[in-house]
Amino acid sequence: MFFPWLALVLGLCLGSFYTVCVHRYLTGGSIVNPASHCPACGHRLRPWENIPLLSFFLLRGRCRACGAAISWRYPALEALSGGSTMALALAFGPSFAFIFLMVVTGIMLVASAIDWETFLLPDIFTYPLALLGVAAPLFLPLSWTDSLLGAGLGAGLLWGVRAVYFRWRGVEGLGLGDVKLMVGLGALVGVSRLPLVVLLASLLALAVFVLCIARTHRSQGLATAIPFGPFLCAGTWIVLIAGDWLAHIGLG
Ligand SMILES: [Zn+2]
Repeated sequence: MFFPWLALVLGLCLGSFYTVCVHRYLTGGSIVNPASHCPACGHRLRPWENIPLLSFFLLRGRCRACGAAISWRYPALEALSGGSTMALALAFGPSFAFIFLMVVTGIMLVASAIDWETFLLPDIFTYPLALLGVAAPLFLPLSWTDSLLGAGLGAGLLWGVRAVYFRWRGVEGLGLGDVKLMVGLGALVGVSRLPLVVLLASLLALAVFVLCIARTHRSQGLATAIPFGPFLCAGTWIVLIAGDWLAHIGLG
């Protein structure tokens, strides 16, 4: 009863740390130094201005010192982290699987946020995720064969799609980062659930793509591009937490 709420608070605090990671990665700052501050005016945040999610609403999305708007992406990332950690707690209870997937989710969230902003999936996220993926059978109900085949075929599939697209259009549709990302994601779900991950990722990406076009087509034409990494992560995460249920209703 108590554990999921504890996980929610933990997830919100971790989410706050993730926003710092993303921001400092994008701006080239250090993760530990200096203390949290407003990127516009350097105003040092007091403890009550630094409460995950809550402070954003207390401050009405603006810096108290200079009035600069705080991006909604930060509270969104905190909310996603809090919600997903709570969901993991509900699905797995206090267990090693919970801790393992909490770390996995954290890397997915930070990598996805950076991919969303820059269209890049840095190796410092995809490589550790691949290592964690290969260790997944230690924590999750997954065989070593299933996991290793998932890594190989997952990456191979994306590499293939990437090569075909490049031949066809002459530009990169998928980055090499997506291929590296898929090593870890494929290993986490295993080869048997790989098709479901690709299906979910494609459906989610299509839905968001359509939404983006609907919002921007008047000003920018149809040249909307969205990164695929966040959707691969989202699809994987859904399969990790609800794979059995999806199989039960006939998917995957
Ligand atoms: Zn400020």
